[in-house]
Amino acid sequence: MMKKETDYKAWDYEDEPKCPFCGEEYVCAWELFRGESDGAEKTVVCDDCGREYTILQHVDVLYSTYTQEKMEEKYLEARRKHKRR
Ligand SMILES: [Zn+2]
Repeated sequence: MMKKETDYKAWDYEDEPKCPFCGEEYVCAWELFRGESDGAEKTVVCDDCGREYTILQHVDVLYSTYTQEKMEEKYLEARRKHKRR
């Protein structure tokens, strides 16, 4: 059955972009958005229903830090564990 043009759903903050018309996931979005920053938009055609929609990318950048000393400790600890075996 053909759905009406107004019959769609907007998806927010999903792991994978989904078609607003049929819910089909857009695979390999990371490839499409490679090198793009937060707020980048791409218009794609759904593989399933063939309709056009726009994907808006949200990028969450996370950082971890540690000192050189801490790294050394982890290395020595791993070596000690290894010797015990
Ligand atoms: Zn679709």
